[in-house]
Amino acid sequence: MVLVLASRTRGLAPCLVGALSLTLTASLAGAVTIKSGRAKMGSPFEVTVVAPDEAKAWGAAEAAWTEIDRIEALISSWRESSETSAVNRAAGGDPVAISKELFDLVTRALKVSRLTEGAFDITFGPVGRLWEASAETHRLPDEESLRAARALVGYEAIELDAEALTVRLAKPGMRIGWGAMGKGYAANRAVAVLRAAGASGGLVNAGGDLVAFGRQEDGQPWKIGIAHPLEPDRIFAFFEIEDQAIVTSGDYERYVEIGGERYAHIIDPRSGRPVRGVRSVTVVCPDGELADALATATFVLGVEEGLALIDRLRGVEAMVVDAEGRIHYSQNLESFIRETATP
Ligand code: ADP
Ligand code: MG
Repeated sequence: MVLVLASRTRGLAPCLVGALSLTLTASLAGAVTIKSGRAKMGSPFEVTVVAPDEAKAWGAAEAAWTEIDRIEALISSWRESSETSAVNRAAGGDPVAISKELFDLVTRALKVSRLTEGAFDITFGPVGRLWEASAETHRLPDEESLRAARALVGYEAIELDAEALTVRLAKPGMRIGWGAMGKGYAANRAVAVLRAAGASGGLVNAGGDLVAFGRQEDGQPWKIGIAHPLEPDRIFAFFEIEDQAIVTSGDYERYVEIGGERYAHIIDPRSGRPVRGVRSVTVVCPDGELADALATATFVLGVEEGLALIDRLRGVEAMVVDAEGRIHYSQNLESFIRETATP
């Protein structure tokens, strides 16, 4: 039995382990497993592939990396040449023609915004930047800057034209960004590419956003261990999954301290302030992109409102760790958890 640590390293502050994957290596005849890791989207990514032979497995992994690179070039708001950057540069001006792929991504993001009543919002950027600057200066943003930035946040000001395939951000200074959904989308697409390349099973761990498909080479479902947010060396829940995503958003991975207070990297778009009261949210559902977006949204909504939303969604489960380290589960999570060692 091999314990593989999928550690997340990035961002502003202590980077700890988010999800661990536990792989059994006893092989069935005719299947091999390979692993390949690279840094993508500012995070460590890992691709695990089960295929009939090594050549096929490595070929599939390479195709997945190519796909992830393609998506990063398309959506990254850090890259001047991306479609996202073109949209942001034109904020307040003319509509921008974009690919069907980005158009559909924006459309799905808006759906999640409506579903979560704005807790998830890809226009969070102007406020997010203020808090990032605070992380550098260790001073809270002043009220005036905060008010100005908040005026630029709001998904309702994203204008889409499905016929012309254009998007327009109505206010100058508005921005969109994919920090809360891009890795989940990339993981989904990488899985699709792995399947098409002949992999029978695999895992794509996109900086802690994990999408699993098929089975391990010994025919077992994937076993994913979740590290306790307050004790990252300890696994406290095991999930057995086949075609599911497990995504964690947590302030133990990225936060800033200003004046002894801890501020998460997730912003409540409604208040313009970093979220408090939640340490981490783990969402389990078949779709990596949706799991990613919902983990962020649940983080913003908090234990009660967040889990109430999750319980309304079919096939979506979550657990939330609150500020005191207490763990709260959605109604049907038990069906996924195999073992727990609750503190
Ligand atoms: P992680 O990056 O740890 O996986 P998330 O998926 O929750 O966590 O994404 C957090 C990132 O999403 C932030 O770094 C920021 O770029 C962006 N973001 C912050 N708040 C929001 C929000 N309310 N809605 C959408 N995106 C957000
Ligand atoms: Mg997210």
